[in-house]
Amino acid sequence: MDVYGLVGNPVEHSLSPPMHEAGFEALGLDARYVTFEPADAAAAIRGAAALGVAGLNVTVPFKRDALAAVEPDELAARVGAVNTVDFSTDPPSGHNTDVAGVARALSHHGVDPAGTAAVVVGAGGAARAAAFALAGSADSLHVANRTERRAEALAADVREAGAERESAGESGAGTGVTAGGLDTLVDRVPAADLLVNATSVGMESDETPVPAAHLHADLAVLDAVYAPLDTRLLRDARAAGATTVDGAWMLLYQGVEAFERWTGEDAPVDAMNAALRREL
Ligand code: NAP
Repeated sequence: MDVYGLVGNPVEHSLSPPMHEAGFEALGLDARYVTFEPADAAAAIRGAAALGVAGLNVTVPFKRDALAAVEPDELAARVGAVNTVDFSTDPPSGHNTDVAGVARALSHHGVDPAGTAAVVVGAGGAARAAAFALAGSADSLHVANRTERRAEALAADVREAGAERESAGESGAGTGVTAGGLDTLVDRVPAADLLVNATSVGMESDETPVPAAHLHADLAVLDAVYAPLDTRLLRDARAAGATTVDGAWMLLYQGVEAFERWTGEDAPVDAMNAALRREL
């Protein structure tokens, strides 16, 4: 039997075990997915390697710490966060599937970030994933956050990664990246094609980080918040005629991407999605 798991704190209410186990079951794989709350993530990853664990997800607050215990791929190194560890190599490799989670959630809904004016609200872990997912393809990217200096720091990291890609001759590195406080939303959102809420505003509360008056019918809105699934931002966006994508799609596709990396199989997306939505 292959053992997979999640390292974080807290992980008690994580939705990853039912989602991945539904995937294993659908493919008839002899595998289990369990959760761990270690004090030290790097030590836990080294221990998991010694125990023969096949793969780990890493969540809050350990995504940065995990970098020290793995060989990060280029994307995880650029983002500065590992959420997926693959033990099929020695040392284990570290990946960031949150970035693909954003891209694939949008793509599933027919939203193509290429050439868009994109706005990411937030500057924490989810915002990093969103900003790196959009930076390579959006025409412009604006990061707005309550604490403005954190928005500026994220924008600087994204610009630096773009410059590295450019010097390596990669395409899509020319995104203009700007940053500001939440007061900049008043100008940015009406002119945007794509909006991602990556703050925790709206989680377990009926609040929104973006006033409804700024939303419009030409906008696609992804809300990273998935509890509740139908946030006030998504309801306001729907009322304005915008395309909406709930946070469970992002959660699903970061899991799908990890599942495919670990197993080498196409993930049974429908089974994993059904399990996730049952839990929510
Ligand atoms: P985080 O690193 O702690 O960042 C929290 C962000 O929310 C920061 O930008 C913070 O601004 C902002 N914020 C918090 N309270 C605020 C308020 N009252 N007003 C305005 N801004 C506020 O958290 P995270 O890991 O990025 O998670 C953010 C949200 O995304 C959570 O709801 C989480 O559940 C969700 N999430 C979803 C997925 C998914 O797969 N769907 C993945 C990861 C996270 P400051 O910098 O000013 O503090």
